[in-house]
Amino acid sequence: MAVPAGADGVRVGAALMAGLPMVQCRSCDGLSFTLDPCRCTYGGNQLLVSADDESRRAGEAYQDCLECQGVGTVGQPCHDCRQTGRRRAQLVLTMANLDTGAVASGNVVPGVVEPEPWPDDGGGSWYLPLAPLLRDLAAVVGVGSWTDVRQPGEPDGPLVFLPRAWRPEHPASAREAREAEAIAGESNDGWRLYLGRAAVAPPREAAAELGRLCRMANLLCLDLVVEARSLVATAGLTWAIRFEVPGGPVPAEARGYADDLTTAITSTTDLDACSGLEERGLTAPAHHLTIGEPPPDPPPVDLDQLERRILADCLDLATGSPTAGAQAIWRDGRWWHTSLRTAGTTEVLSEWSTG
Ligand SMILES: [Zn+2]
Ligand SMILES: [Zn+2]
Repeated sequence: MAVPAGADGVRVGAALMAGLPMVQCRSCDGLSFTLDPCRCTYGGNQLLVSADDESRRAGEAYQDCLECQGVGTVGQPCHDCRQTGRRRAQLVLTMANLDTGAVASGNVVPGVVEPEPWPDDGGGSWYLPLAPLLRDLAAVVGVGSWTDVRQPGEPDGPLVFLPRAWRPEHPASAREAREAEAIAGESNDGWRLYLGRAAVAPPREAAAELGRLCRMANLLCLDLVVEARSLVATAGLTWAIRFEVPGGPVPAEARGYADDLTTAITSTTDLDACSGLEERGLTAPAHHLTIGEPPPDPPPVDLDQLERRILADCLDLATGSPTAGAQAIWRDGRWWHTSLRTAGTTEVLSEWSTG
């Protein structure tokens, strides 16, 4: 593992040779399992439970429960520590240059990265700034721009907040113990891989990006669906963009967390847009495809106009009340618009393993 030279505020590699600190898993207090409420407690002590039955005594265990025998709690293996009861306080950041194959890694253990106060917080919260370390690694391998392989939206590394009890005036051993706790919180994803290019990538421009997705939909004979859905909790809208098999059902659940169209486009990767496509396409009607000329390039997309039209479809024309949402669907070389409405509810009886 190549370790870059230290730079401002970063003491890279200082603790590499020291023993790796392990901390007790906070999720299970080191027990390797947790005691969770049994699912039978959702419905109270009754055999048949209705989802909208307000009179059920939630929290009370079903006395003949096959899972908890009426106790109300069940032991679950702790996934945070993979049932070891301990978590490793180590985060490894690796930067790879896709053009040259050069690779460098930084080892983040307590005492390596100098904590900084969170901006505009009056010194109340502290965190471990990992962006300078990533920039150092990028400089070592000659990378100009990079993305996190699994979290493309986090080019500055994960946000590692220190516990409130961490104070700069405390002795080093106490500070490092708190830093170990914070770093161990990332141990489920303790190795972050960043893939970079020597040249700086141009910023993603939303309209061009949407045009590219439309073109991809044309080539794959899929629909590109741009969707805004009403959120029950906040009465706001959540935006998503995805591919769909033409004729497939509209998913019952909203996906995506973007607040507007531009964010939805720039935060959705090609893989995200394809996610779940197969499952949702199972009941889609078959289509006969013939080989022809490649489809023409889609015309430039006017994002403002598209967003305004979808927003307009989120309101009922006749009553002015909000609909369940709206979609714009790119199919056959043009946009099709539709409002969404809630379909009727059906009663489903499902058997639980609780007996
Ligand atoms: Zn139970
Ligand atoms: Zn645990």
